[in-house]
Amino acid sequence: MNIFKYSAIELNKSFVKGLISAEDIVIAHINKIINEDKYGAFLYIAKEEAIQAAKALDKKRKNGEKLGRLAGVPIAVKDNISVKGMPMTCASHILENYIAPYDATVIEKIKEEDGIIIGKTNMDEFAMGSSGMNSAFKTIKNPLDIAKSPGGSSGGSAVAVAANMVPLSLGSDTGGSVRQPASFCGVIGFKPGYGKISRYGLTAFSSTLDTIGIFARSLSDIKLFYQCLAAEDDKDQTSWKSTKANNYLEFNKDNKKLIYIKEMLEYCSIDMKENFIKYKKALSKKGMDIEEISLPEIKYSLPAYYVISSAEASSNLARFDGVKYGMSLREVKDIDSIYKLTRSKGFGDEVKRRIIIGNYVLSKEGKEGYYEKALAVKNHIKSAFKEILQYNTALISPCTTDIAFNIHDPKKVTDFYGMDQLTVPANLAGLPAISIPIGYIKDMPIGVQIITSQEEILLEFAQAIEESKGVTNYER
Ligand code: GLN
Repeated sequence: MNIFKYSAIELNKSFVKGLISAEDIVIAHINKIINEDKYGAFLYIAKEEAIQAAKALDKKRKNGEKLGRLAGVPIAVKDNISVKGMPMTCASHILENYIAPYDATVIEKIKEEDGIIIGKTNMDEFAMGSSGMNSAFKTIKNPLDIAKSPGGSSGGSAVAVAANMVPLSLGSDTGGSVRQPASFCGVIGFKPGYGKISRYGLTAFSSTLDTIGIFARSLSDIKLFYQCLAAEDDKDQTSWKSTKANNYLEFNKDNKKLIYIKEMLEYCSIDMKENFIKYKKALSKKGMDIEEISLPEIKYSLPAYYVISSAEASSNLARFDGVKYGMSLREVKDIDSIYKLTRSKGFGDEVKRRIIIGNYVLSKEGKEGYYEKALAVKNHIKSAFKEILQYNTALISPCTTDIAFNIHDPKKVTDFYGMDQLTVPANLAGLPAISIPIGYIKDMPIGVQIITSQEEILLEFAQAIEESKGVTNYER
């Protein structure tokens, strides 16, 4: 048996039945990472910690104690989420030697469910980027073709699942950082609606848009992991209870309606567009009709996202000042020089760019022209989506505008920003969204994005879409 291809559910079953020990599962996965991570997916491998946790779990099973839903499952965690006693660098020099002193709420939940954290994954610095190339330590590569980007910013977490190093991983999604790398690497990437999973212990990038998200190779694993993590949390005032909402009760499985926004296709490469049109036709043949709608304002999502996220980033990153956390460069003794030196050496170019944009849009002259307009766009997108996505309706689109790009192809900063065009609207609207692999273009995977008003509805649609895999050229 090849346990690396097991889903989390299968691994858990084998462990519970006593077919394999947690220690064996953990050692096998750790060795695989040590021997095979030529993709740069991991920044820290928690060998000692994971083996210790596995031994304790084996004892628990032997003693006949009640086991959690993730018992025996190795899980990788993006390096912007706090795990007590492990490094948390956010892939930045400024936090290079920082050890997290507490567990994020999601980590507490994983531990309560007997999941085992086996490492911290590489990412774009402070979750800013779409390429895996903004890590201060090493560029992340796509396991399907190492000349290509795995996407970002949660590139390491996507690669860890795609290369069968773990069945489950955690990422964060502020404007697409779970869905885009999932699409580039051929796995499922799910971000719940805003506030459904506690952000306590996630290093803030843009607090009103950030969500913790999940990678897995099967939808059943996504459902299981989401159920383990979603909860209201006293430590995160924006978190709220994920009970089945009223509109779920009115959800009619047999009467699902799919729509797509025609303007979203305008950003896609010819290949992506053609593939989506083919896919749409194939779905219709299977009885899932898709209606075209127009929402021209969707084009303002991207600029609004970059204004809001940079504004919040500039304020959130002010805490990294060379005094409170991590790196502290004190060649010159006055406080201003400590700030300046630490921040100039500690942050990479992309992070500095966001801080500068953020400071400008929050300044007296930038506020009216940019920040306030961006907030108005956010509110508008939110209400437009609310109106569109009632009851049985889901919005589908390609997840990305093109397939994974070559790492060495020259690109402008704005080319990278443009890649988020199709994913940012869900964050602005605060809605759940998922990317599911539906096929290949030029041997690279592509994903379809689904957005709905509510998680349970999203997962119902995802199930239907997944069952229709056969409608496209799923094989590589
Ligand atoms: N690529 C987007 C950005 O750079 C999204 C990042 C994210 O979702 N964390 O801001």
